[in-house]
Amino acid sequence: MVGTHSAEFTKHGNHSSFDRMTRTGTKAPLYRKVNTRARGVHHHTGGDWRHQRNTKREQRNIADEVPRGTMHGTERRGLDYTPLFRFLLSKVGKDWPAVHAEAISRLDREEPIYWLVARTERERKDYVRIGESSYFSGLFVDGDGKLALVAPQLRNEDLTPSCPCCTHTFNGVPFVKKYEPLSS
Ligand SMILES: [Zn+2]
Repeated sequence: MVGTHSAEFTKHGNHSSFDRMTRTGTKAPLYRKVNTRARGVHHHTGGDWRHQRNTKREQRNIADEVPRGTMHGTERRGLDYTPLFRFLLSKVGKDWPAVHAEAISRLDREEPIYWLVARTERERKDYVRIGESSYFSGLFVDGDGKLALVAPQLRNEDLTPSCPCCTHTFNGVPFVKKYEPLSS
């Protein structure tokens, strides 16, 4: 997965006049198509699916056919916006209008930007969960018009996995902390 990301990032500098003549946009999209059958997005198919019986997996995949409601509102079936989130995180401290314009030009729709970037003070969150177990820093536009972290002090070590079966990540890095079952 890390390899895919770096490939995505190295593509950006690749502008030649040939590209300009043959394509409308030379920069890679900030989203990816995903094979949702092979890569389960649901809680219990996301992590250790290899250890589950095929029959159970198939049932889960059928359950995933249900359109995403508010509970899974951050997931559009078949599209993964991880490249967008990495792009936004790399632009912290930069002027928002330019970042926003570039993001829009490389997306199929604007909405996923605002999963991370709060539009109002009330929308600001220290971190945002995308899907079942991918966490990213919450962002906002500060008084100077720059993209900023809502909680710059928040560290990977501050987050605890909510289940034992998924690989939880914060800004693409697996959680340092391990799952701890509740005990009395
Ligand atoms: Zn899990």
